[in-house]
Amino acid sequence: MAHLEIKQLSKRFGGFTALDCVDLSIAQGEFVVLLGPSGCGKTTLLRAIAGLERQDSGQIVHAGRDISHAPPAQRDYGIVFQSYALFPNLTVGDNVAYGLNSRRSGHAPGVLGARQRVVDMLALVGLPGIEEKYPTQLSGGQQQRVALARALATSPHLLLLDEPLSALDAIERVRLRSEIRQLQAKLGITTLMVTHDQEEALSMADRIVVMKNGGIQQIGTPQDIYRTPANDFVADFIGRGNLLEATLQDQSDFKFGKVSLRCDSTLPDHAVHRFYVRPEDICLHSITETPENSFTATVKKTEFMGSSYLVTLEADMGQNKPLVAQFSSNYLEGRPIQPGALLRLSIPAGHLRPMSPSL
Ligand code: ATP
Repeated sequence: MAHLEIKQLSKRFGGFTALDCVDLSIAQGEFVVLLGPSGCGKTTLLRAIAGLERQDSGQIVHAGRDISHAPPAQRDYGIVFQSYALFPNLTVGDNVAYGLNSRRSGHAPGVLGARQRVVDMLALVGLPGIEEKYPTQLSGGQQQRVALARALATSPHLLLLDEPLSALDAIERVRLRSEIRQLQAKLGITTLMVTHDQEEALSMADRIVVMKNGGIQQIGTPQDIYRTPANDFVADFIGRGNLLEATLQDQSDFKFGKVSLRCDSTLPDHAVHRFYVRPEDICLHSITETPENSFTATVKKTEFMGSSYLVTLEADMGQNKPLVAQFSSNYLEGRPIQPGALLRLSIPAGHLRPMSPSL
């Protein structure tokens, strides 16, 4: 049974539809990430689950209880916002203890119990002994760890994270995302996080929900979403890629402009087939080799990305955008690729991923 179930949830702001009949089911202990461009409705969905926004229609069921119309204090969650949202006039200890006394008062632990809980929570987020400090004495990352401790202090069964890392610098963001993931796995707490950062989503989620215009485009594991995007929007939003059109020649052989390539899948007979190829799935060969599915292309531009090079190429494949390939920097060590160079490339049959034809 799902731990959290969203059924046909809709929300309008005036004439604008922010959520359009959203259905989502989250299992106990899952870490699910809502991912999408600005304005797609991620935060509205999170806020509706928290009871901070009232949906126009639809249902929210948490642990078998219909909470669709329950006030926030009667919902069983902890929440962390992008902006830390700590009380600047309260010590760290009082910030963490805040929820213990104000929410679910039937379970309030008493002064001694609360103090111990604060100590435990701060140790849990890797900041033992800072109870007496004030938020302004802490770095952004430390403040967000305190916000996390506060969210978890009441032992909620659902953790809601609204872009918790986006105010932090790049190094702190990477550090905290792995800490949050480890903590979540250790506690086994069902977690829903909002982000517009695809790398964050891919590295943290058990499943990613890709949203656009108040609706869900695809739900899947990071690998599913990255490897087999459901449509052009998801393909475009998650990482770089090449969308190539082809006509069927014979069974699984396709013609891409002047280039013939074999695909692993057997596809229905369409006038035009579309395939998706990730840049890192294009292989580089010596110009004299002729492996299966190989062709030549001319280098237009190279960009050094640190661990890899992005290479923009012109090929006779009939596509309206240049081909983009990605090669590891180690692999290219000692044999730099210059604009104008002719390269022998191949796309292994299994890496030509068919896309839906009618979009
Ligand atoms: P972002 O990453 O920019 O926060 P988001 O996907 O979280 O984007 P939401 O905050 O859910 O998007 O907003 C969805 C849409 O609803 C946006 O176009 C936003 O302007 C609109 N919206 C959100 N809250 C309100 C409100 N209180 N009144 C009017 N419009 C709103």
